[in-house]
Amino acid sequence: MQTSVVVYTCDLRLSDHPPLRAALHGGGRVVPLFVRDRSVDGAGFAAPNRLAFLADSLRDLDARLRERGGRLVLREGDTVTEVCRVAAEADADEVHMAGDVSAFANAREQRLRRALEADGRRLYVHDTVSTAVAPGAVTPAASDHFAVFTPYFRRWSAEGLRDVLDPPRAITVPEEVGSAALPERGDVSGVSPGLCAGGETEGRRRLTAWLRSGVDAYEERHDDLAGDATSRLSPHLHFGTLSPVEAVQRARKAGGTGAEAFVRQVAWRDFHRQVLAARPDAAAHDYRTHRDRWRTGRSAEAEAEAWRAGRTGYPVVDAAMRQLSHEGWMHNRGRLLVASFLTKTLYVDWRVGARHFLDLLVDGDVANNQLNWQWMAGTGTDTRPNRVLNPVVQGKRYDPDGVYVRRWVPELADVRGAEVHEPWRLPGLERASTDYPEPVVSLPEGLDRFRRARGRA
Ligand SMILES: Cc1cc2nc3c(=O)[nH]c(=O)nc-3n(C[C@H](O)[C@H](O)[C@H](O)COP(=O)(O)OP(=O)(O)OC[C@H]3O[C@@H](n4cnc5c(N)ncnc54)[C@H](O)[C@@H]3O)c2cc1C
Repeated sequence: MQTSVVVYTCDLRLSDHPPLRAALHGGGRVVPLFVRDRSVDGAGFAAPNRLAFLADSLRDLDARLRERGGRLVLREGDTVTEVCRVAAEADADEVHMAGDVSAFANAREQRLRRALEADGRRLYVHDTVSTAVAPGAVTPAASDHFAVFTPYFRRWSAEGLRDVLDPPRAITVPEEVGSAALPERGDVSGVSPGLCAGGETEGRRRLTAWLRSGVDAYEERHDDLAGDATSRLSPHLHFGTLSPVEAVQRARKAGGTGAEAFVRQVAWRDFHRQVLAARPDAAAHDYRTHRDRWRTGRSAEAEAEAWRAGRTGYPVVDAAMRQLSHEGWMHNRGRLLVASFLTKTLYVDWRVGARHFLDLLVDGDVANNQLNWQWMAGTGTDTRPNRVLNPVVQGKRYDPDGVYVRRWVPELADVRGAEVHEPWRLPGLERASTDYPEPVVSLPEGLDRFRRARGRA
């Protein structure tokens, strides 16, 4: 009987899983394997919120496998060493895994392929596991990737998606392959108190609920900070507890302008992945440089620290930063405006902000995070790289009654309506009685500094 190993990484599900389907083809035995690799932590990918979500997801995957007669095998150590070891223990001929785009994942895949081949085994890497359309599947005439989203989206939309795959009914795991104990969320310290639950069961429940009662209003409400009217599926798409192919197929089936707008956002994920696949260096270096000489030194560091702590004196910025720290997640409009604030108003390097986001975000993802930061810093794929979002204007537009600010900034809980966006305008006594900081910098000063730095003064 043939035996295969399925190496799980960021694809922690049974439904719509091409590597698992391929491994089960022909009815042999399968080892579903996850390697807890400390070099992933060393590369800066492990953060408490993601480790907690991972623990939930591994437990859920194990439970779903057990319902089908199988179980998850967990090993700790170097991925290549452990996969080869498990393949030898199970006498497996084949190893299947999902394709990925980061430099780290590419190097790991190449090392694994070589090591397996040296042992006489084959590695099969499957696409459309972590993206709806594979990186490189659509390209413009004269380049290996799209640098502008709109033409990419046109081609992406015209690509036919593969059919969604059902989860397997039964799985036989070789008895001789042992497993380490699965981690538990409770073992992880430093987790945000409002962190959401992980796991495929939860991801599927959320998608169903979203398509039933959220997506219709998405187009009108996706920027409503207080309304919280987005899908919150990003951690599930990041960990693969939800398949992007399935999310798109089911949203298209649901139909309507809300579903179309949602599908367009999911396409942004694929867009950033195809950029990173072609330019892995963009994870750490400017995609398009403006030769920025970002501010450093004591005052820049103090301002960046105020930004991290949600104490910049700009209420909507501070509200969003506090949401991040409390939930390990932030609304997209918040992400846009805090990133603009750090890189353009404070003129601090986008990498400083991206690092802080990766330390906290449960959906923290190299492609999406680094390239969205670059988009906002104007060093990425934005066709208007010098646009600056004014936090007061943004606050009044996307939180017109100040509900979002009052939710996250209790110091301003007694300030009514939109006045909450400009506490410095409050009458003297009221201002004096709130323990809320003065703005770290005036907006005209920040704007002037940025324009001069970019040679646009
Ligand atoms: C500075 C900055 C950093 C970001 N870092 C990340 C990150 O590390 N991980 C991450 O998943 N997203 C990131 N985003 C994109 C976006 O903010 C989140 O995906 C979104 O807020 C998640 O909420 P949601 O699931 O409710 O999204 P919805 O609005 O419901 O969108 C559906 C899905 O589409 C995808 N999506 C939406 N917007 C974007 C976008 N701009 N780029 C790429 N994919 C998108 C996500 O997978 C999301 O779950 C970042 C955006 C900015 C501006």
